[in-house]
Amino acid sequence: MRYWFWAVIPFLLAASAVFGGNREQEFCLVRNGVPACTIVVAENPTPAARLAALELQYHVLKITGAELPIRGDHEQIDGPRILVGDTRTTATMGLQGSAFLPQEYLIAFRPDTLILLGRDWQDTPENRAEFGRPMCCGNTLADTRQRIDYRKTVGMPERGPCEIELPGIYDDQGTCYAAYHFMEQFLGVRWYGASAISVIIPARSTLIVKGADIRRSPALKYRDALWSGMWPFMRGQWGEVSQPEIWLFWRRLRLGGEKWAGNHTFHQKTIQNVLNDPEYQAQGPGKGTQLCYTHPKLVETVSQMARDFFDGRQNAPEGWKAVGNYFAVVPDDNNRFCECSACQALLAAGRDRRTGMFSSGTVSEYFYSFVNAVAREVRKTHPDKYIATLAYWDYAYPPRNFTIEPNVSVAPCLHTCMYAIHREIRQNDMALYYQWLKQAKAPVYLWNYYHHPMEAALIGNFTCFPNVMVHTTADTMRMFIRDGIRGIFVCGEQDMLEAYIIAKIWDNPDLDIDVALDEFFRLYFGRAEKPMKKFYLELERIATNPKNYPHPVYRRSGVDWKAAAWEHLGTESRMKRLGKWITEAQAVATTAEEKQRVDLWTNALWRYMVQGREKYFAEKARKSEKTRVTSQP
Ligand SMILES: [Zn+2]
Repeated sequence: MRYWFWAVIPFLLAASAVFGGNREQEFCLVRNGVPACTIVVAENPTPAARLAALELQYHVLKITGAELPIRGDHEQIDGPRILVGDTRTTATMGLQGSAFLPQEYLIAFRPDTLILLGRDWQDTPENRAEFGRPMCCGNTLADTRQRIDYRKTVGMPERGPCEIELPGIYDDQGTCYAAYHFMEQFLGVRWYGASAISVIIPARSTLIVKGADIRRSPALKYRDALWSGMWPFMRGQWGEVSQPEIWLFWRRLRLGGEKWAGNHTFHQKTIQNVLNDPEYQAQGPGKGTQLCYTHPKLVETVSQMARDFFDGRQNAPEGWKAVGNYFAVVPDDNNRFCECSACQALLAAGRDRRTGMFSSGTVSEYFYSFVNAVAREVRKTHPDKYIATLAYWDYAYPPRNFTIEPNVSVAPCLHTCMYAIHREIRQNDMALYYQWLKQAKAPVYLWNYYHHPMEAALIGNFTCFPNVMVHTTADTMRMFIRDGIRGIFVCGEQDMLEAYIIAKIWDNPDLDIDVALDEFFRLYFGRAEKPMKKFYLELERIATNPKNYPHPVYRRSGVDWKAAAWEHLGTESRMKRLGKWITEAQAVATTAEEKQRVDLWTNALWRYMVQGREKYFAEKARKSEKTRVTSQP
């Protein structure tokens, strides 16, 4: 399944038909600190074009000190122009955003004209009325269109209020993609994080760009890692940040994309409020959270819910997941399944499928019988829509006795955060992943865990060794995209740099991450580049070496992260070496920005480690003292 490959061909054909060539052109934005062009938008721009114009104006101002005027296409405009989104001029050139494929965009160079255009969500009553229960940001698609005061968010409140609605996370915003791609490639801007200090804006007084047309779309179609700095590393590395800055950062990294959602849909809330017919409630202790998944009436009811959703007659209930062409069906996160004889017979059929690991197939015959039954019903009326489901936990493997229906879109849940060090978990994941790829006819999505070890540390109140694994992560993401995976949801949070690399590989799997890492350390830390890079890559070398996780820390089903952290990973000699790089970085950092960034990383990573190690050994000493005292006669 190489969806991206087939999706690329029409772009190439369309691009060559429209332009018949691709010669390099020069375009001047600012000359010696003086604006040399005008930004032009439609009289009523799309939310994406409005944001793209503001972002371009802001970044050019920060780079050069010159403020490019933004004008409507109904006004008289003289001189060179940057056309942002659909305008009267692009229409006369035969270019129309609505003719682009979803997420496709164009950066085009013409004499005295630069075009930044893509397919955008149109602000119409019909589009605003679209139903959906998205993965993130709230209960409805409207919740994903956050409102911000743009000027306040980018640190220019003195210029007066500028309230805008951001393009929805899962709405088309190709014009923004064009603008962000342009600013990265041609203006040298980098959005490494959500805070002001984590953005790179190189200063220049003259801004002349030269290039040939670019028409493309991100490689991965659904890119769901809406990092919020919820865990200590990323939050600490970002430093001070506001919620609107985080919302803006997601757009700048081009997260979101296609409308897809999959998570638990049958649970206490949806059963209480909607699926409360006594006929198909689970028998036994699962009553109230699980249902009788062999009951024909349940199949009929859920199929009708899917039809009503796709027809725009009735939204999926609150607590459900359904957007775009996908209606999710996933049981509650417990194993108290129905005890009726039909359900028990199917559950018995999988009992020999234990793997000794989190992901198995013991419940696959049972659960996918139900998913298939719903899919067959819905296909009769809606052959182009999908039932989305998670291949998770005891239904991670495909069923053995039948294949999945062609309109079931599966998302295997994979423990990517373990791949560098845990052979059995990786092998088990890859076994189920390839089995699904082999039989799935619908687009395949993934749920990727990046929760360990930080989640365990937060819950267990201990301090973990940073699980930096940026090279393995990049290789794994690249493999997923080349295998034709359509979209990825990331569950958990890596540090800010690994997160950034994930987003970049999702956009372009051909990215050379060593070049990207070199660039990051050079641009971000300046004079402290070398020691900071050594520090980070040393963390990775330690965390990703399987030899550093000997038994009993390493178990077939996982890792004892608490015990691993400071006796096996962050040993005294390694900590000495790491500390040396930090001391050196602090000594050579010169500019205020370099110092601030080194300080933020030192606090977020190094101080966290030093304090965590001290705490661990203090606790250990206390425990052994207690044992000594209590074991005395
Ligand atoms: Zn039952």
